[in-house]
Amino acid sequence: MAEQTAHNRLVGGSSPPGPILKANLGKRIMETDIKTLYQLSQIDSQIIKIENLLKKIPEEIQKLKEKKEALILKLENVNNQLKKLETLKREKEIEIQEQEDRILKIQQNLDKVKTNEEYKALLREKAHIEEIIMEIEDEILQIMEEQEELQEEKKEIEKQVEEEKQKIDKQIKQKEEEIENLKLQLQKLKEEREKIKETIPKPLLSKYETIKQARGGVAVALAQDGTCAGCYMIIPPKLYSEIIKADKLFTCPHCGRFLYYEPK
Ligand SMILES: [Zn+2]
Repeated sequence: MAEQTAHNRLVGGSSPPGPILKANLGKRIMETDIKTLYQLSQIDSQIIKIENLLKKIPEEIQKLKEKKEALILKLENVNNQLKKLETLKREKEIEIQEQEDRILKIQQNLDKVKTNEEYKALLREKAHIEEIIMEIEDEILQIMEEQEELQEEKKEIEKQVEEEKQKIDKQIKQKEEEIENLKLQLQKLKEEREKIKETIPKPLLSKYETIKQARGGVAVALAQDGTCAGCYMIIPPKLYSEIIKADKLFTCPHCGRFLYYEPK
């Protein structure tokens, strides 16, 4: 009867064991097995963590590169604006030159006119042109003010770009080094994993892999304070006390993970 109960518990509630488990998980399943499975599961967790990081870090690097490009673009925009203002200013200066040429002509014509009327008309035209010139000069002054402001802004941005660029380059370098380190760690963990795998009976290992696949990469959960640390559900007290004895291999009746009690 006791044998029967234990066997059922091995089944793990709603997830019945495959034939492999029934056939092989007899006396062989000892404390060492669950401890080894737990070690394997910890290594697998680390592997998953590192693999996730190795996916995430290149994305972070890409974002940093985009941030750098955005800064450079900001500087380019200011430079383009400055160029446009310079062109505009030159156009206005040419306009003034043209208007001054007109005044010069009027000046020459003033000597040639015969009537008072013509003379007055020319003077009016001259005054009008002088007004136009003044307006253009105001516009040029405004442009120059804008240029000055933009130059200040440009200096600020240049400073910012220089600082940020250095900071970002440093961050990118750190992240690239991190990738290299993680790759080395991953390699070591995989080697370790192979070694541990060799000590685990094949049917047990295959059960382990099945649970791992079904349970988000974690096949062994700690049994702590009467609870499964994998699914946070309460383990029936009788089962829990048997897990502590660790003379058989048990799975959680709720999530199906192997349960490991860590002796204190
Ligand atoms: Zn559980």
